[in-house]
Amino acid sequence: MDIKRWMTVLPTVEHLRPARCPCCDAAGRPVDGPLVMRGHGLRERQVYGPRAAGGAPQQVTVQARRYRCSACRAVLLVVPRGLLPRRRYAAAAIGWVLARIGLDGATTPAVRTEVCCSTILGVAAAERWLAPSRWIEASRRGQLFPRLGRHGAQSPRAQVAERTAMQLVALSPRGRAGDRAAHLAFRGAALAA
Ligand SMILES: [Zn+2]
Repeated sequence: MDIKRWMTVLPTVEHLRPARCPCCDAAGRPVDGPLVMRGHGLRERQVYGPRAAGGAPQQVTVQARRYRCSACRAVLLVVPRGLLPRRRYAAAAIGWVLARIGLDGATTPAVRTEVCCSTILGVAAAERWLAPSRWIEASRRGQLFPRLGRHGAQSPRAQVAERTAMQLVALSPRGRAGDRAAHLAFRGAALAA
């Protein structure tokens, strides 16, 4: 379920209950026994970035649902589609940034104003924005988008950004003729998360 629908009506515990525990593979709701994946409360999660490609930057808070596995005691967080583990920016916004830097040759400060809303910018304007370098390094290791592979340890960052962006463009549903690469990377990244 995408963020928009999730924020309109928070999905129920039952609706989001994982079919299996990702840690021990126990069935979440066995046919013949008590529940295994049990609701374990809510956790607020910040999500940064525009909701639409080229749109105004936003900062929203979503309620992620937690589940606890009664077999192995693992706690699992279920979030809306389009978010990546441990990243505050939505996957689509990260795809946008990589395409703007890697394909359009845009500078980091310019791209920052496109995805970062003014409240965040206001606090951190004087600091260098390190997030894109971290994303590029994670992509190099194959740890940014789970569906994409890794890149060479020696490849320059600009090249890793470019190749990652091209992979995201390739995943995008076909847009209108003349769509900019960053728009396609935005949509491809939402699907790659
Ligand atoms: Zn488990």
